[in-house]
Amino acid sequence: MSKSSRIVTEYGIKIGGKTKMKIGYRCIFLAIFVMMSFSFTANAQAKKLKIYISADMEGIVGVVTGDQLSPQGFEYGRFREFMTQEVNAAIEAAFAGGATEIVVSDSHGNGESLLIEKFPKNVTIVRSWPRPLMMMQGIDETFAGAIFIGYHAGTTNSEGVRAHTISSATLADVKLNGLSMPEAGINAAIAGQFNVPVIMISGDDAAVKETTDLLGNIEGAVVKWNYGFHSARTMTPEAADDVIREKVKNAMGRLKDFKPYKVTTPVQLDVRFKNYRPAELLSYLSIVKRTDAHSIRFQGRDIIEVSKFLEFMTNYESGLTP
Ligand SMILES: [Zn+2]
Repeated sequence: MSKSSRIVTEYGIKIGGKTKMKIGYRCIFLAIFVMMSFSFTANAQAKKLKIYISADMEGIVGVVTGDQLSPQGFEYGRFREFMTQEVNAAIEAAFAGGATEIVVSDSHGNGESLLIEKFPKNVTIVRSWPRPLMMMQGIDETFAGAIFIGYHAGTTNSEGVRAHTISSATLADVKLNGLSMPEAGINAAIAGQFNVPVIMISGDDAAVKETTDLLGNIEGAVVKWNYGFHSARTMTPEAADDVIREKVKNAMGRLKDFKPYKVTTPVQLDVRFKNYRPAELLSYLSIVKRTDAHSIRFQGRDIIEVSKFLEFMTNYESGLTP
């Protein structure tokens, strides 16, 4: 309190002397400065450091095909465990590195893959869909950094296990301002809207390379090396957890190095569908322009509007219940 109250006093006298303000105004100014310095002190005492973790599954150790990725796959149960362990490795290292609060978004498939009972008590988990901010729901400007676990390469990348963007079944390209984007890029831009930098990513070699090429010098944990869409040489789960722990530790140790990824506004979204009819029907809306037989364009005020459009586009069907 000592330093700031001295400044308040000096400032108060100066203002008073110069403008001959009445005592009442001076008291209000003093009260405001005292309240501000109190809140700074309170913040410094709490030392809050929030970390956001977005978790996907294609980039989890050992994942190579649909057998690991959906409840119908014979290996899904075990790979949910591995996914949960990798997120837990990141959580442990983030807390050890000074994090005080962590939000995890369960962002693969049905959004119900993580085993929430295996997380520490001071973690909260975002589950299921739809969500306006997609794989980044729950992020805001109070977070110090974002971590991507189990991420995969984008749909225009000819390398990478299960490389796709948002939907492997329906989308052939997703561009922001003319640049083809993997999910990591779209999600980094959403974090960037809130001034939150991405600090670390894990996945196969293609996903890590693609994301570090786009975002710069973030920490990358390679847990497998792709041979193609459905094959890879993989680490064991325990070894993957170790490398994730190490890279999150490094990232937490140099938080100030990372810059939020910003896309210029307004944001032009171009989507190329694998099929023909989505582009035809969406172009009935006056906010959507059909740019060719398979493609549409939407302009959003910012990445948040674009995120909502994408979530609507990929979730809406007229038979929705309830
Ligand atoms: Zn994904």
